[in-house]
Order: sequence, then C-alpha cells, then structure tokens
Amino acid sequence: MKSSVSLRNVYNDVKNTLLGQFPEAELEARELLQAALGVSRQDILLGREREVSREQLDGLGALVRRRMEREPLQYLLGEWDFYGRTFAVGEGVLIPRADTETLAERAISFLRGKSAPRVLELCAGSGCLSVTVALECPEAQVWAVEKSPAAWDYFCRNNRAYGDQVRGVLGDALADIPILPVDFDLIISNPPYLTAEEMADLQPEVTKEPAMALDGGEDGLDFYRGLTARYAGRLRPGGMLAYEIGMGQEKKVCKILKESGLQNICQTPDLHGIIRVVSAENKFSRPGGELE
Ligand code: GLN
Repeated sequence: MKSSVSLRNVYNDVKNTLLGQFPEAELEARELLQAALGVSRQDILLGREREVSREQLDGLGALVRRRMEREPLQYLLGEWDFYGRTFAVGEGVLIPRADTETLAERAISFLRGKSAPRVLELCAGSGCLSVTVALECPEAQVWAVEKSPAAWDYFCRNNRAYGDQVRGVLGDALADIPILPVDFDLIISNPPYLTAEEMADLQPEVTKEPAMALDGGEDGLDFYRGLTARYAGRLRPGGMLAYEIGMGQEKKVCKILKESGLQNICQTPDLHGIIRVVSAENKFSRPGGELE
C-alpha cells in the first residue's frame, strides 16, 4: 500500500541524520532518496508530495543505517559513474574513482588514429577502464584480466551492459595467461598500490573495499615490479605501457619502467596537478632496429 509523503520532510530527516558525519550530507541524502524511493532529483529539490510504500521507506531507513556504519555510498546505490557512464558496483569490487579518468584519457589519446590496435587491461576490477576504452575507441580490440571472482562478476555485468566489447579473462595478471595474444599496442593497469602503512590507516569506507584491489605490498610497488617484468616485453613496436600510480610514487615507478628497457617515460598529472599516470614506450621495432 502506498501513501503520500512530503519529500521535503523525508529529505530533511535523512540529511539531518547524515549531517554530523558526512561533509556531503545533502548530496548523499538526495542520492539515497532517489535510489530507495524511485523519485527524481527534481522531485526532491522541489520537496514534492509523492506516493511511496512502507517497504520503500523501510528500505531507505536501512540504507541510511548502513551508511552511518560507513558502508560506501556507491555500494548502497549499487552503481557509480565513470567517464560519463554508469557502472554496477558492490561489495567485492573497487569503486571507480575520478582519479582513474586520467588513465582513461591517456589511453584514449594514445589510441587515436591507430588502426585496429590491441589493448590489454590488467587488474580490471569493475571494468570501468577497459569498457570505456573499448567504447571510446571502437577500432580497438580490448582484453581485460581480473583475478577476483567477486570483481569478475561485476566486470561481466558491466561489460554486458555495454555490449560485450571487451574480451574478459578471469585470471591472475602476475601468472601465465595462455589465452591472451602475445603482444599489444597498449597495456594499461590501475593495480593495487597502497603501502602497508596506508593499508593500516584506511578511511572507514575504504576498509569495506576489497583489500586485494588496494594492497600493493610493503612499499606499494609490488604490482609495478611484477607487471612490468611480465608485460614490458609484450608491447608491439611503438606500444605503450601505462599505469595509474598513487600520489608521490612517480619517481619509483619511472625507475622500474626505465630499468625494464622501455623508453619515452612520461608522467601525466590529474586535474589537481598530482601525477596520476606514468607511461613508457617500446621504441624498438623487431628484431632490434630503432623506429625513429
Ligand atoms: N585510489 C585508491 C585509494 O586511494 C587506490 C586504488 C588502487 O590501489 N589502485 O584508495
């Protein structure tokens, strides 16, 4: 049974509950009302009367309680936007972050003008990066590897929702994956990169995300070492390897790339001027001659 409620009152109740703990209480309250009651942003902003059921109000109450326990808003909503598209998320998968759009941009601009390039994403999580690249660069053939079965489920859902443009592989990026092609024009990854110290001091919300997607070992660099050792030799002539990195990791990751023999090492800042992406290229054509 439905009854008419004032969204102004419901919104104010939720906002006031969240206010003490969350700096973005207004945005969060609005998002939770939209998700639980199926009302529009406009309805909420205008404080309209709307018909809602008891179950919907109970559902909203449950979401607010979970949020007060610091479950990430994105998990409660079940989706989050990345590069202008919506991706399914939930427990077991890393939430897409705006920071990662820097790597998406870098990948897309690198691929511009290339004919039928082969792209590989390692540690793909929700698939937000590989799906974005596949859709923005329809010429590209894109593969993506993810190890966690829970994240893989989200990857498959997201890939399917956008037309199954990516060839997904459930597997460990740090082990052999025989079904992948031998070489690629572009290899990208946003691997786990937090240090042991950072892992011990996570925000409450981040502790609800999979440690497997965050934990980069003692110095945070395990995956940069492991992936570079395994994949630097699998770039086609002129191909590029590009990583998202954590704040302040650029020197060390550039060194790892340099020592692997790749060239044209390049650092890309995000909108705040923080270096977010480090990339390197294979400037040599096989069997050993220089391209330029
Ligand atoms: N950017 C994430 C964070 O700071 C870390 C993601 C990752 O390790 N790739 O929580």
